[in-house]
Amino acid sequence: MWNASLFDGQSARRYPVRVALADDALAVEGPETPAQQVALADLVRTANAASLSRRGSPGWRLVFADGVPAPVAERLAPPARYGKLVDRWGLPRAAAAFAAVSAALAAAVMTAPVWLGPMVPQAVENRIGTALVPDFAGSVCHTPAGDAALHKLMAQIDRPGGGPPIRVQVVKLAQVNAAALPGGRIVVLSGLLEQAKGPDELAGVLAHEAGHVRERHVMQGLLRQFGLSILLSGASGTAPASLGQLTALRFSRKLEDRADRYALARLQEARISPAGVAGFFDRAANHAPDEGNWLRYVSDHPDAGARQALFRRAVRKGAAYLPALSPDEWRALSEICADDTEAKFFSLW
Ligand SMILES: [Zn+2]
Repeated sequence: MWNASLFDGQSARRYPVRVALADDALAVEGPETPAQQVALADLVRTANAASLSRRGSPGWRLVFADGVPAPVAERLAPPARYGKLVDRWGLPRAAAAFAAVSAALAAAVMTAPVWLGPMVPQAVENRIGTALVPDFAGSVCHTPAGDAALHKLMAQIDRPGGGPPIRVQVVKLAQVNAAALPGGRIVVLSGLLEQAKGPDELAGVLAHEAGHVRERHVMQGLLRQFGLSILLSGASGTAPASLGQLTALRFSRKLEDRADRYALARLQEARISPAGVAGFFDRAANHAPDEGNWLRYVSDHPDAGARQALFRRAVRKGAAYLPALSPDEWRALSEICADDTEAKFFSLW
């Protein structure tokens, strides 16, 4: 006979009882409870070494003053301490498995832009682009010769891979910048055309942005900036983002590097010297701080010094490089906004 306390699961009361082992049951009786037989098969050891619970009776507890007596414990299954998986695997192994699964889930959510971006159909990105990208209409510069030169330049450095060509627009705005936009588009600001010293420089900058477009970095940037909801909404009901927001789509350093490598490969294929864009980055690195127009490009594309070195190293001595455009074509393109007297300065930023 052992002294114990009985909690019946019905009330919070504790009933003092005496417990005895009788064949396949415990005989339980006390001054305030009717005598009862509880089958051993219904009793379960708990994490607490002093108490037993009863199958099918939530809250029912039999708590022994001196712990579950050994003769009783021997006839019961070992305690279910944490749940089936842990009981089967043991705590350290289950904890390790749980940590691994948690880490994988956290990584999947945190890296969603990286793996999800390239899987989003281009058509979805195009729809988002239509909703998000402001209408540059009155500020896009056009002249027949300038348009032809831009087209010729892009044809050399873009590799559509069966898809539609990238749509490039020159927008009249005195900032040195170019950006890949959602929907397979690139915008070049007229400030960049004014600062570029030749077509090879522009070719390199455009090839870099084309890399962001072709390798679907833009979708990754959208997911990072606006979250997964942009896919569900398709940006419907979303006001056009400011140009600043879009050009500030942050790409990781890794993606910037990949875009540079894409650019380098395209320049080499087109036999355009990487020295041009190296010079552009060199000026961005050295003259940016005191020249406001450069600020935006430099803040969007840090590490101009290292990037300059990458392109500089890729220059092959004795290679037969060709200028990306003839002098006349370059003049038409670099002055396209000056020549298009109808284009107005874009004001939204
Ligand atoms: Zn970039």
